[in-house]
Amino acid sequence: MTEKYDLDTLAVRAGVHPSQFHEHSEALYLTSSFVFDSAEQAAKRFTGEEPGNIYARFTNPTVTAFQERLAALEGAEFCVATASGMSAILACAMGLLSAGDHIVASRAIFGSTVQLFGNILKRFGIETTFVSPTDVSEWEAACKPNTKLFFAETPSNPLTEVCDIAALAEIAHRRGARLAVDNCFCTPILQRPLALGADIVIHSATKYIDGQGRVLGGAVLGNKTLLEGVYQFLRVAGPTLSAFNAWIFLKGLETLRIRMDAHSAGALALATWLETQPAVTRVLYPGLPSHPQHVLAMKQQKTGGGIVSFEVEGGKTAAWRVVNATRMLSITANLGDTKTTITHPASTTHGRLSPEQRAAAGIGDGLIRIAVGLESVEDIKRDLQRGFDTLV
Ligand SMILES: *Cc1c(COP(=O)(O)O)cnc(C)c1O
Repeated sequence: MTEKYDLDTLAVRAGVHPSQFHEHSEALYLTSSFVFDSAEQAAKRFTGEEPGNIYARFTNPTVTAFQERLAALEGAEFCVATASGMSAILACAMGLLSAGDHIVASRAIFGSTVQLFGNILKRFGIETTFVSPTDVSEWEAACKPNTKLFFAETPSNPLTEVCDIAALAEIAHRRGARLAVDNCFCTPILQRPLALGADIVIHSATKYIDGQGRVLGGAVLGNKTLLEGVYQFLRVAGPTLSAFNAWIFLKGLETLRIRMDAHSAGALALATWLETQPAVTRVLYPGLPSHPQHVLAMKQQKTGGGIVSFEVEGGKTAAWRVVNATRMLSITANLGDTKTTITHPASTTHGRLSPEQRAAAGIGDGLIRIAVGLESVEDIKRDLQRGFDTLV
């Protein structure tokens, strides 16, 4: 789509290339390979002289349609879809970095990303320094001559800390590094990191882009030259997105804006109510004026998003009582689903950290994370109220 369209239109129509059958909805091309008209054409496809599909590890039309649509929404020149969010982060690192390079990453990033950077990439000679998500001076101080990548996730999980994307981009560029932002919690509907100065956007499409908890996938977005190595890594190593999952995500993108608005409205209503609950000692939601980075969040995000965390007095015993008293909420670590989920981070997603590491990260034993779904907020409140009633 070469004309300028609004996000709502791009979410529904970008990446549409009907086949000879003039299908209205996007076709699902379940094929691992593509046939050539002649030996000459096959040769030209393989040299790249003629564009076109060869093999689904390289490209597939359904995957291409998803990539074009997500790129349009993020305002990116290029998108490379991947088999999961983690393979997007791996592909980003493999495409951009070499042994001897250094990463500066927020301490408050997805647990598997910490493992990937801190353990796996380290074995291949890539070092990572973990710094505060909110104190930009730590990022600057951590820079070395070989720093090639800044990696941020905002808002963070589960504390909803907000990284200043524009400030980090400025430092990264001054130091000759690139800034990658994991935009999983906001999606392009609420936050567009490239417009704020980031070089790369990462997605776990598994979350809000699917939106109904069905399949895994991810994406890396940015300019084409920068992502050439990322695409080559995927093409050779193979953690590409399946056509079926791409088709799910394409349809997911069509309702993403109305879902994100509904998740956000529900989360704000829930967070506001939680602040009035005697059993609750602290509520963490970027959309609340009480959030330490509310002003920054509202500058770089359209809303506070769909994730709310809060603390109850009485540590793990009290938190588990609240979790166990729910009847409707799903006790699961996943997020971005139509169904509201409830998690006790200290004993699940962050259970591998030592108590000291958790304390340093601010993840208390009384902390609970809610990923607000699309049910009635009144029903979500009632489900939590049952647990709160046992605490006070
Ligand atoms: C889930 C998640 C990932 C990893 O995505 P997968 O699709 O599970 O591999 C990365 N970053 C964030 C912020 C996530 O929530």
